[in-house]
Amino acid sequence: MAAPGLSVVIPVYNEEAVLPSLFARLYPALDALGASYEAILREQFQKRPDTTRVILFNGNYGQHMAIVAGFERCRGDRVVTLDADLQNPPEEIARLLAKMDEGYDYVGGVRRERRDTVFRRGASRLMNALRERITRIRMSDQGCMLRAYSRDIVAAINSCREVNTFIPALAYTFAQRPTEIEVAHEERAAGESKYSLYKLVQLNFDLVTSFSVKPLQMFSLLGMLTAAASVLAYVIVIIQRWIVADSLVEGLRAIWDRDILQFFLTGILLFGVGLLGEYVGRIYEQVRQRPRYVVQAVLERKE
Ligand code: UDP
Ligand code: MG
Repeated sequence: MAAPGLSVVIPVYNEEAVLPSLFARLYPALDALGASYEAILREQFQKRPDTTRVILFNGNYGQHMAIVAGFERCRGDRVVTLDADLQNPPEEIARLLAKMDEGYDYVGGVRRERRDTVFRRGASRLMNALRERITRIRMSDQGCMLRAYSRDIVAAINSCREVNTFIPALAYTFAQRPTEIEVAHEERAAGESKYSLYKLVQLNFDLVTSFSVKPLQMFSLLGMLTAAASVLAYVIVIIQRWIVADSLVEGLRAIWDRDILQFFLTGILLFGVGLLGEYVGRIYEQVRQRPRYVVQAVLERKE
């Protein structure tokens, strides 16, 4: 059997409410392309076993690991990812592919009029700006998962062994000719977001720690500067009191008056330690070399 022209990889976590409407729109959108394709989805397998593969996990390993598992098993010459909740309209796949036809190996989606809460949009804008500053990855909307990847990029991602990652950014590091197009964005068709605030924070730590060590470097620098500044402040205050009271002992008492400064330094220190912990934790996971996910079953037609 020849490799299909296109694979669609969709991470699915407790999306039973939205899957029927997803399939109702996804398959017609793919059929309209007229090309051979292979979609990796759940349940639809029975209806379309010729073009559907489903990877079931024995637990939730997260959106990005689900995509990695899809990447490792899809065969398409091009691979498109989208979310299951219909926030990424399947009808846009054709436009991503048309852009690839122009010679690009990576086409990222940029959500036009993003339909999410003000908080999510604001947080995304901040994280995009931060990523732009501390990494070499250049993209307008890293959170948009409606993207098209060449087979070469997928192969490169598959050769990575990291446990925590952020697919759109990882793909960018392997892309030779990346580009972006605006894509539509819709309200979640059913169900609720699978990201709690905690999971969102973790995801963004994955993004930062997977692609930059600058935060580590910046905090050591900031730590040295603050320490030096506080020593200088002590010297000034001690000398000042020494002169005023005409007693060195009186001047040295200033040390005990600086508790606000101490709090400030403790805060910096704690954050630095916490950030270090984020890296160390990930190194720990990496060196354990556990399987990154365990596949329960693969539904596919025997060839
Ligand atoms: N998802 C997943 N595992 C997770 C979280 C999310 O497979 O731990 C999938 C989810 O089913 C959906 C996509 O990733 O297809 C995006 O998730 P969601 O729409 O909940 O995120 P949001 O749009 O709120 O960022
Ligand atoms: Mg969503």
